[in-house]
Amino acid sequence: MAYRVDMRDIHFNLFEKIGVEDLSQLEAYKDFSVDDYKMILNEAEKFAVNVIAPTLAPTDKDGARFEKGEVVVPEEVRETLRKFNEGGWGAVSASPEFGGQGLPSTVAIGTVEIFVAANTGFSGYQGLTSATANLIGEEGSDFLKETYCEKMLTGVWAGAMVLTEAQAGSAVGEIKTSAKRDGDTYLLTGNKIFISGGDHDMNENMIHVLLARVEGAPPGVKGLSLFVAPKYLVNNDGSVGAFNHLKATGVEEKMGMHASATCSIAYGEDGPCRAWIIGEENQGIQIMFKLMNHARLGVGAQGVSQAAAAYHLALDYAHERVQGTRIEDARNPAAPSVPIVEHPDVRRMLLAQKAIVEATRGLIYSVSYWLDRANHTTDDEERQRYIDLVELLTPICKGYSTEMAFHSICLALQVHGGYGYCEEYGVSVLLRDAKIGTIYEGTTGIQAMDLLGRKVAMRKGGLFQNFVGILGDFVERNSGHPALEKHFKLLGEAKDQLVATTITLGTKGMTGDINYPLQYATPYLFMFGHVACSYFILDQALLAHEKLQTLYADKGVQDDAGKRKLVQEHVDAKFYYNKIETAKFFVANILPEVYGIAKSVESDDKSPMDIVF
Ligand SMILES: Cc1cc2nc3c(=O)[nH]c(=O)nc-3n(C[C@H](O)[C@H](O)[C@H](O)COP(=O)(O)OP(=O)(O)OC[C@H]3O[C@@H](n4cnc5c(N)ncnc54)[C@H](O)[C@@H]3O)c2cc1C
Repeated sequence: MAYRVDMRDIHFNLFEKIGVEDLSQLEAYKDFSVDDYKMILNEAEKFAVNVIAPTLAPTDKDGARFEKGEVVVPEEVRETLRKFNEGGWGAVSASPEFGGQGLPSTVAIGTVEIFVAANTGFSGYQGLTSATANLIGEEGSDFLKETYCEKMLTGVWAGAMVLTEAQAGSAVGEIKTSAKRDGDTYLLTGNKIFISGGDHDMNENMIHVLLARVEGAPPGVKGLSLFVAPKYLVNNDGSVGAFNHLKATGVEEKMGMHASATCSIAYGEDGPCRAWIIGEENQGIQIMFKLMNHARLGVGAQGVSQAAAAYHLALDYAHERVQGTRIEDARNPAAPSVPIVEHPDVRRMLLAQKAIVEATRGLIYSVSYWLDRANHTTDDEERQRYIDLVELLTPICKGYSTEMAFHSICLALQVHGGYGYCEEYGVSVLLRDAKIGTIYEGTTGIQAMDLLGRKVAMRKGGLFQNFVGILGDFVERNSGHPALEKHFKLLGEAKDQLVATTITLGTKGMTGDINYPLQYATPYLFMFGHVACSYFILDQALLAHEKLQTLYADKGVQDDAGKRKLVQEHVDAKFYYNKIETAKFFVANILPEVYGIAKSVESDDKSPMDIVF
């Protein structure tokens, strides 16, 4: 099975649509050029296709395991991680202060998309090491930064992000792991579960960034503090010293991501486990919140990556697999069988996948770009505008993109028929690996509550109204578009429906029935996502239409037959033409699901709360 990356569409988003070169106007990115970005992305693609992707099948079969009290990772993972770190890939978006390349998040998210689906379990090791090192770099004391950042970002040491406990998954406030003050540091006791890459021997040291509760702190999230705990204490000269009593007690057997060691961890079980605080006591959750947008965008990009990889497998298979005749030949026993890509139902499944991938990719890259601008602009008003958009759309990036990705990969599997259900064609592993995206970093249900309960309500609905205003202006500006007029009208109507449903749910909540809006929070997230993604895909289609008209004019093509011929023969003409068809499909076929959801919300049906389970 071949791993293919959507490089053409990634380039379209970054360089044609968003114009990522604008970021060079910001001080932080002034030394980068478009050529630098393209070179980095092309090298990432080569590494993903040639080095990471070949490890997927063997490490899916023989994954990480727990043997004689130790975590054992597949040899392919060890070797690939070494090459990955040698290439400096773990530090692409990290600050140059710690040996990073300081790339904009928008381009770094491109590398995430390129790497992840090549082997999702493998990608977690470096992803979490970079994330924890960046967190220490942004929020830690000078001592913590100097001790850990460079070693982690250069891949000498590994990192893990540690929140979950058996009784504290979605309910982070239930965390019990305790931290006892001991001079300037703390001693940890407790147990964590489900920690990705939580322990292994691929790196010289393992650094945990974890949430725990200082003895005597208040209950709930307000009593949580953030700590750094190394597996081996670090000597004054930076070398690795004594064991710090942080140890894996098991590795989960999972449905996917087999390359990743998902560990249960014990702290301070048979000796002291020392930890250093990040920030102040009881500030842990606020610090985590600051960094959550970035992590959730990353998981959204993971979904896009997996869905794109599955789409390419399905597309290739649909061209190869010969089965059945054209419907026009149904009564002719001598008619030839055709590749399944000829069948309307298969074409629908393929285009649905392409539409989901391209719409959610537009969402993720745009939000990453806004995050870069928010983080680095010197204009306060501009910063607030971008922060508001990022805040509102982060649960959509995470919750909607991963759910739609899973649906999309189901369609890719369906295109493969029975062979999809078998392991040989590589689509089933993507489906298994993709499911986790809807669970970790906050389940879809948690994202939905964040969207409806927090983000939409923020500043008396100001963030929501602002976004709806952007959609309204967009529809109005393009209402007479020569090719997409009908589709802009559909978006305008769906946007109005989103506003109406938001008011219905808000009114229910405010009049005392708080369960009703929560019962519909996840359908509402889908509704919001369908509307938002229609905006992103139509915005791409507008540009594609412009570029296609320019190509027709440049090539002197005027009649329909000439245009069709150009689209079939010219790579860019085909890309732009297909982009427009993809947008039409999303708006005509996926967006109308909004009305089914709206009808449910209007139903006043309370059966989920009334039923006796
Ligand atoms: C492979 C894997 C890797 C992971 N990696 C890490 C890691 O590196 N670090 C880490 O800290 N954790 C990690 N996790 C843990 C992950 O973040 C949690 O599994 C996730 O947050 C859900 O918690 P839970 O499993 O306890 O489910 P629960 O919280 O018990 O949720 C079960 C169901 O109930 C719903 N639910 C729960 N509470 C509510 C509520 N208040 N309202 C509505 N619905 C609710 C959820 O949406 C879900 O559908 C990993 C998990 C897995 C499986």
